[in-house]
Amino acid sequence: MTVEKMPIDTLVVGAGQAGVAMSEHLSKLGVPHLVLERDRIAERWRTGRWDSLVANGPAWHDRFPGLEFDDLDPDAFAGKERVAEYFEAYATKFNAPIRTGVEVTKVVRNTGRPGFTIETSDGVIEANRVVVATGPFQRPVIPPIAPQDKNVTQIHSADYRNPQQLPEGAVLVVGAGSSGVQIADELQRAGRKVYLSVGPHDRPPRAYRSRDFCWWLGVLGEWDKEVATRGREHVTIAVSGARGGHTIDFRELASQGMTLVGLTKSFVDGKVTFETDLADNIAQGDANYLSLLNAADAYIAQNNLDLPEEPEARRMLADPDCVTHPLLELDLAEAGITSIVWATGYSVDYGWLQVNAFNANGKPQHQRGVSSEPGVYFLGLPWLSRRGSSFIWGVWHDARHIADHIATQRKYLAYRDASQRHEGERREQQSGDSYPDSRLSA
Ligand SMILES: Cc1cc2nc3c(=O)[nH]c(=O)nc-3n(C[C@H](O)[C@H](O)[C@H](O)COP(=O)(O)OP(=O)(O)OC[C@H]3O[C@@H](n4cnc5c(N)ncnc54)[C@H](O)[C@@H]3O)c2cc1C
Repeated sequence: MTVEKMPIDTLVVGAGQAGVAMSEHLSKLGVPHLVLERDRIAERWRTGRWDSLVANGPAWHDRFPGLEFDDLDPDAFAGKERVAEYFEAYATKFNAPIRTGVEVTKVVRNTGRPGFTIETSDGVIEANRVVVATGPFQRPVIPPIAPQDKNVTQIHSADYRNPQQLPEGAVLVVGAGSSGVQIADELQRAGRKVYLSVGPHDRPPRAYRSRDFCWWLGVLGEWDKEVATRGREHVTIAVSGARGGHTIDFRELASQGMTLVGLTKSFVDGKVTFETDLADNIAQGDANYLSLLNAADAYIAQNNLDLPEEPEARRMLADPDCVTHPLLELDLAEAGITSIVWATGYSVDYGWLQVNAFNANGKPQHQRGVSSEPGVYFLGLPWLSRRGSSFIWGVWHDARHIADHIATQRKYLAYRDASQRHEGERREQQSGDSYPDSRLSA
C-alpha cells in the first residue's frame, strides 16, 4: 500500500478543474487533504475533447480568480491544451497535494467509527470526508435508437478528434449543442456533406454591443441563477469560441450547405426518421437569442452605458429550404451517410461510491454539494448551486462553499469540554508534548 498509511482528513477524488479548485480552498483553510486523480491533472481537457476545441468562454472569463492566461489576449479563446496547462500551473502555484495515476475504486462508510474506507488502484486508505470531483460529464451517452448497422461508423462526440478520423462520405451529427454544432461546422469546412439533427437549444449571441455573452450572462445575473427555468433544465446551449468566436447561426450553416433536420427519432431498415420539430426548435433558439439582446439593451439603458448600438444583430437570414420543408426521413445509403457522430451528452458513473448520497433515481442528493451522507460532498455538477456550477469560474465558487462547510465541521469536532481540556493540559505537562488527535490533524 503506497498511497497513505495514516488516515487523511479530506480526500478529493478527481483533479480536473473541480479538484484543483477544491484543493486550493481546502489549503487556504488549513484543511489537510489529498487529491487522487486516475490519469493526469485536467485529463479531460487533454484527451477527452476533439483536437481543435477551444474554450467556449474568453480567457478573461474562463479562468480562476488567482491566475490569468498571461500569454493570451483576454478576449481570445484558449485551446484545450492551454486550458489543461493552465490547471496544471494553477495546482503547482499552491503546491496542491495531488497524486496522479491513482484511481478510486470503492468508497464505503466505516461502521462503528467515523470516516470512510477507500479502495484505490494503489491500496486502501481512510478519510474523514470525501469530495467527489469526478466531473459532470463522465460516461458518453448514445441513445438506444442507434442503428445496428456495420456499414455506418458511429462515434460519440467524446471520441471525435478530427474530420480525417471518419471514413469518406456524408455525416449525420445528432445533437446541436456546443459540441454537435462545432463538430458539424468543422466537418462541413473539411468538405463533408453534413446533416445536423437540431433539438431544443439556447443560442446566445457570441457578443453583443461590444461585450461577450459571458459578460452579459454575468451582469444580468444569469450565471448565478439558482434554479433552471422549468422544463429548460437540460436544454443545451449552442456557443462556439472557434475561429476567434462567432454566434451560432443555424440558417447560415444551412446556407453553406448543411442540411438541418429535427430531433432524430428512429432508424429502421437503413432509414433514419426525424421529428417535425425543426422549425420550432430554431424559433425557440431565436427567441432565446433575442431575449438576451433585449435584456442587454434594457441593462444598457438602465445603467446609461456607452456601448455601441448593433441593430444588425437583429437581422436574421430567411429560413432555408431545409427548415421550411424539413426532411422527415432519409435513406442513409442513398444520402451517402457513412458516419454518425452522437453529440448526445453524458451521464455520471458513481458505481464506486457506495454511500447513502443518492435519491431513488440514483442522482446525487445534495444541497449546494453537501450530500445527504454526512462527510460526502459533490462538486462540479450542473446546477450544483447555480447555472455556472459546471463551468470553470463557477466551480471555483462552489468549492469555496464546500471547503467552508468542511472547515466548520472540523471546528465542531475539535471542540473539547472542560474536563477534556484539563486532561489535555495535564498530559501536555507530563510529556511536554501537544495533545494530538490523529484523525483531525492528519
Ligand atoms: C466539449 C466540452 C467543452 C467544454 N468547454 C468548456 C468551456 O469552454 N468552459 C467551461 O467553463 N466549461 C466547459 N466545459 C464544461 C466543463 O468545464 C468541463 O466538462 C470540465 O472538464 C469539468 O471539470 P471537472 O473537474 O468538474 O471534471 P473533469 O474535467 O471531468 O475532471 C474529473 C477528473 O476526475 C478523474 N476521475 C474520475 N473518476 C475518478 C476516480 N474514480 N478516481 C480518480 N480520478 C477519477 C478524471 O480522470 C478527471 O480528470 C466543457 C465540457 C465539454 C464536454
